[in-house]
Amino acid sequence: MKTLGLIGGMSWESTIPYYRQINETIKQRLGGLHSARIVLYSLDFNEVERLQHAGQWEQAGALLADAAQRLERAGADGLVLCTNTMHKVATQIQNAVHIPLLHIADPTAHAIQEAGLSCVGLLGTRFTMEQDFYRVRLEDRHGLQVLTPQAADREHVHRIIYEELCLGRVLPESRQTYLSVIARLKQEGAQAIILGCTEISLLVEQQHLPDTLLFDTTYLHAVDAAQWALRV
Ligand code: GLU
Repeated sequence: MKTLGLIGGMSWESTIPYYRQINETIKQRLGGLHSARIVLYSLDFNEVERLQHAGQWEQAGALLADAAQRLERAGADGLVLCTNTMHKVATQIQNAVHIPLLHIADPTAHAIQEAGLSCVGLLGTRFTMEQDFYRVRLEDRHGLQVLTPQAADREHVHRIIYEELCLGRVLPESRQTYLSVIARLKQEGAQAIILGCTEISLLVEQQHLPDTLLFDTTYLHAVDAAQWALRV
């Protein structure tokens, strides 16, 4: 089994489900007392969030590249960046190490394709919804059509992530807001929804939306990483 290097803490609330799901997948595959080989480097999210909102992506990338190098030195064979947003600096991270970065968008796109779908709604931070690094990868590399919410809805989705979910606050009224945003995306043609922020599944789960297929990037990324670790 290969060793996974997790770059976590963005926020730590969503690093916990990563750790659990990777171990669950290894346990399911190997049975008994088997568990994942993991090295975790967890950042201080306050630092990262400030750089994001100041538009200082190069510096944020340098922080993460440093984390990646520390994980490589600690024996990681592959990197799992436990956030969608910071995949904006995926290339900067990848260029700093000799081990592969397992990109979060790829297992997400594969799951959507396996479900036979092509037009999906994307929820995430404003950075993920509005900038090219994520949407364009889904569109150009995987041939998906990606819809994002209207400006006011994007604002609500973004605010709830930073002011609530990353602080561990899960509020029923915010769930209602998300369900309304999802309903509008469906009216515009979305066949399913990508939970493109690793904290969203703390708020919205499949049980809240039995009629809409949700693609949870945290789950899909974690399972994919565990499977990668077992591949020879
Ligand atoms: N974890 C979130 C994501 O998946 C947002 C926090 C961050 O900016 O990294 O995008």
